[in-house]
Amino acid sequence: MSKKFAVLGDIHSNWEALSAVLEDAESQGVTHYVCVGDIVGYNADPGPCLDKIIELGTVCVRGNHDHYCSHDESLEDFHHHAARVMTWTKEQLSEEQLEYLRHLPYEKKISGFTLVHGTLDMPEKWGYVVGDIDAEISIENQTTSLCFHGHTHVPVAFIKEDSVTSSSFEKVKVSMGKKYFINVGSVGQPRDRDPRAAYVIYDLATRTVELRRVSYDFRVTQQKVLAAGLPERLATRLAVGE
Ligand code: ZN
Repeated sequence: MSKKFAVLGDIHSNWEALSAVLEDAESQGVTHYVCVGDIVGYNADPGPCLDKIIELGTVCVRGNHDHYCSHDESLEDFHHHAARVMTWTKEQLSEEQLEYLRHLPYEKKISGFTLVHGTLDMPEKWGYVVGDIDAEISIENQTTSLCFHGHTHVPVAFIKEDSVTSSSFEKVKVSMGKKYFINVGSVGQPRDRDPRAAYVIYDLATRTVELRRVSYDFRVTQQKVLAAGLPERLATRLAVGE
C-alpha cells in the first residue's frame, strides 16, 4: 500500500480541531501521521491532544511551545498570554507527557522529506519564515527536495528553482530539480483569517501535497478556554482565524 501522510502542525491543545482533522484524514485514506510541532499551548486540552498524537505513532518535531512547556526556562520573551498558558499547560501534564515533549527532536527526516517547526537555519532559535528571503536561508540548509514546517500558522508554499517564489496553495506537485518548503498551516489556531482547521496530505506515490481545510465547532473550544481561566483573546481569535 502506498503511503499517504497527514502533516499536522500547531495543534495547540485544540481537541475539537484535532478530532475533526483526524476524521477528515481517515476519510482520505491517510496511512501515516507526522507533525511539525506545537502540540500544546494556547487552548485547553493539552493532555488529550498529546495522548492522541502519541497513540497514532506520529513522527513529531519540537515546537517552541512544546519546548517551553517542558523546560524550566524564562518566559519573559513571550507575549504575556502565551506565557500564562505555558505555565498553565505545564501544570496539566504528567511527568511522562512532559518527558515526551522534552525529547522531541528539532528536525527529522522521514521517507525522503524533512520536518521542522520554524526554519532549518538554527531551528532551536525558533525564527519565523515570513518572506522569500527567510525561506531562501532555510532552504540553503535543506537536504531533501521537500520540507514541511509551521510556526506562523499561515499555509504557504515556498518553491526554489532559480530563486524562491511563494504563494498560497491548494495542491502542489513535487518535481525534480526544485526545492519545496511548505507551511502546512495550523490545526488549532489558524491565522490566515479562515477559522477552519488546516493541515496537509502528502501522497508519496504521486508526490502531491494537498492543503485541507476542515470546519469544526470552535464554540466548544472557546468555552473550554474560558472555563480554564485562560485569556479571553485566545477564545475570540478562533472565530476569525487570526
Ligand atoms: Zn504555534
